[in-house]
Amino acid sequence: MTDCLFCRIVVGEIPGDIVHRSESVMAFRDIQPKAKVHVLVVPQVHYETLAELAAAEPYVAAELLKVAGEVAADEGIAESGYRLVSNVGSDGRQEVGHVHLHVLGGEKLGTVAGRPVDSTP
Ligand code: AMP
Repeated sequence: MTDCLFCRIVVGEIPGDIVHRSESVMAFRDIQPKAKVHVLVVPQVHYETLAELAAAEPYVAAELLKVAGEVAADEGIAESGYRLVSNVGSDGRQEVGHVHLHVLGGEKLGTVAGRPVDSTP
């Protein structure tokens, strides 16, 4: 989709700080990191939500999760722990309508309940 920010990063029209690229998935650093490590993992194909991706292309959804784990290992946070977040829709505060997993870590993260809005990805 030409008007999708992450599709444009996938095809190289917009630069991204890319940390991983495979046949169906890529990962790049979030431009406004909410933690010391903040990487976005996206499918190269455009779907809006993880549920839509999993329903249509379950192997790509599984690859997304696998790559998230590999990114965590590469970033050195697999042992200390990390958080995977996928925001969905307006109430979920999804800003970019191309499914993505936030990989967050490198520091002790806030608790989910009662967490200030500005610290959420
Ligand atoms: P979400 O609110 O879950 O849709 O998250 C979208 C994320 O994309 C936010 O954390 C933004 O900081 C991030 N973002 C926006 N533009 C870019 C960009 N050009 N490169 C990398 N990350 C971006």
